[in-house]
Order: sequence, then C-alpha cells, then structure tokens
Amino acid sequence: MEEQCAREALVKAGIRLIDAGLIARTWGNVSCRLDADRFVITPSGRDYNSLSPDDMVPVRIDDLSWDGDTKPSSEKGVHAEIYAARPWVNFIIHTHQINASAVSAAGLSSIDAALDLTELSSTIPCAAYGLPGTKTLRKNVLSALESTRGHAIIMSHHGAVCFGRDEQAAFSAARDLETAARRFACDRYLDGRADAKQCDAGDLDDEMRRRAVEILSANSHVARADLEARYASYANSERAPEGMVLTEAGSRVEIAPDAPDSALTREQRLHRSVYAKNPRIRCIVHAADPDVIAVSRAGITMRPLLDDFAQIVGTRMRTISDAAGRAASALTSSSAVLLAGNGALCCAANADDAHAIRMIVEKNCRAYLWGALLGGAVPLKHLDCRLMRIVYLKKYSKQIKVPAR
Ligand SMILES: [Zn+2]
Repeated sequence: MEEQCAREALVKAGIRLIDAGLIARTWGNVSCRLDADRFVITPSGRDYNSLSPDDMVPVRIDDLSWDGDTKPSSEKGVHAEIYAARPWVNFIIHTHQINASAVSAAGLSSIDAALDLTELSSTIPCAAYGLPGTKTLRKNVLSALESTRGHAIIMSHHGAVCFGRDEQAAFSAARDLETAARRFACDRYLDGRADAKQCDAGDLDDEMRRRAVEILSANSHVARADLEARYASYANSERAPEGMVLTEAGSRVEIAPDAPDSALTREQRLHRSVYAKNPRIRCIVHAADPDVIAVSRAGITMRPLLDDFAQIVGTRMRTISDAAGRAASALTSSSAVLLAGNGALCCAANADDAHAIRMIVEKNCRAYLWGALLGGAVPLKHLDCRLMRIVYLKKYSKQIKVPAR
C-alpha cells in the first residue's frame, strides 16, 4: 500500500478497534504492509485517540530498523515474523482483548472454533509464553503460525494477534476470536453440550461464575462468613484539597477531613483510610463488575495470569476480609485489592490510571474464572512478574504527571 494511505488506514483502524472494545488506551498495536520489505506500525505507548498519520513508523521486516524519531511499538518483531512468513498478509492487529486473554492463561495449546467464524481455522493455536518484546515471544508466535491456516493466534498470558489480506479481514478475525473464546469456555463448562446462541447471548455467564467460584474457593484464606456483600453501594472517589469527594450512586458527596467516623458510611470510611495511609493515591475506583464481585467471593490471593496485570497492578492482589485498615495497608505494595465479597478497589494518581487498573483487574478476574472451568489457570512466574513490574514502574515514573497537593 502507498505509505500515506497506510498511515491513514492505521489511524482509522485504531479508532475502530477502540470503538469495538478490542483495544484500549495505549495497549496493543496495529500495522500495515507497505511492500515486500517494509510495514508501517503504530508508535510505542501512545493513546490511539491522539494519533495522526505522521505518528506512524515505517519498519524494515528483515532487521526491524525504522526511520525517523518516533519509536515504533515494542512488538514490531512479532509483526515482522508474520509479514515474512505470510507474503499475502497486509494488515496485523495485536490486541489484549478480554475473552482471548482470559483463555490464554489456561495452559492450553489451542482452542476449537466453529465453522461460522469464517476468519478462523477450526483450531486456533495458543503460542507458548514469552516475555513482551523478546525474541522468545517472536519465535513462539512464529511456531504457532506454522500450525494454522487461520487468521488468529492466541498469545499465552498476553492477548492475541490477528491478521489478514486487509484491515477488514484482520478486524473480523479479532472479533470472531472473542466469540470463539467465549464459546470455548461455555462449551467446556457444559462438557461439549453448549449451544452457540446461548453462549453468545451470555445466558450461561452467571452459572459459570458460580461454578468457578466453588472451584476457586478450595484455596480460600477468608472465613465464609466474611465473604458477604457489606456495602450499601459502591463509590469512586478523588482526593480533594480538603478531604475527599465521592461519587456514590450518581451523586457527589464531599467529606471534610475532620468529619467523625460515626458520620460516615462503611464505604466512605474505607476510602478515607486508603488516602490517609497512601499519599501517592489520589483516585479510587471501586470495581464491581460481575466477574470481579465473583472472584472477591472466592477469598483467594490473585496472582498475575496476564502480562499487563503484572506490569500495572502488581505481583499479587490479596483478598482482605476486614476492609478498612488492612485494605489501606495492602495498597502500599499493589495498585488494587480485593475486598472479601465486595469487588475490588483500584487506586492510582489520577482517574484515567485508576480506570485502566479496573479494566486489567476485570480481565484477570475473567481469566481466573474461565481458567477454573478449563482445568485451572496457570499464574505467571513470580520472577517474570517482578521484572515486568520494575520495568513498567520505571517507564511510568517518567510519564506520570501527579497534580500538586
Ligand atoms: Zn501486547
């Protein structure tokens, strides 16, 4: 494709993928082939909504060298492997999409797909794990590619890469992969008797969550009586120059620093204790998605099943039974904590980052639930998680703008 057209196509594809919920924030990347030797790819660490054609980076397939001052995506090597091995591929999308990511942590070598998902082969391979940006990851994706004629590969503990002759084919593959991953989990839950329509409509979701929580609860470290819902409503909040401001059930509540505990709700006391103990936290999002609520009822310590959880949330996420004081302490070493029976608190220096943490917590929770139904999710190695966390925090500390207190 002519270079300017390719750059414009990438801008449009990024917006389309965001709108479809297949990528978010700066995660994932998209590329388009220019000719036999080069492709153009989205830059590293940039929000898709802020990208212009000039931000895209041409990269050579043979040595990954690039032109200009903008750094290309760190997964350019995975794209290069696919362009080199599949001369007919002109468009590649790498996503961290939720359903494909959720099945990617179950230690499977492949998942089955139905024939009506036309961009996929009947078996979708799961590439073995490799740390992000490494040669091992490239090699593992290439070897999965050699085993399929379809247009999608699941990347273990990470996400997916989907490709095709053009943008539409790659986009359809990514969308079909979400459907296939969900159907696969449903079908395993029902021992091969699931109906595709029933799976696609989400009819089995509640039942599957209940069963998964029963399985996960075998490792519970929280007393059963402590796993009940305790909050009248779930709130988000921000630290204010004086005290804090909560958004509860759509209304804004200002809490002065000297308000007595007896005047506050349980949720308000919880938020106040988090701010008091953690000066770096300026925003709290209470994650209450059904998957998060379900995992919070299992009473487990959650380990990273996915790379982005290790990077952005931390190396573990505990379930705290006695919420206020202990949750505040747990948040000194992690960006999120599960509250027994009551979802999770996701905390950051600003609202955008707290919501990003919420999305990643939701995804790791789905991976735990589906993993339980698929024979048990396999956590990432602790040392790999620590390494990813350190690298992420180093990068993040250069980017973050913390408002003055
Ligand atoms: Zn990725």
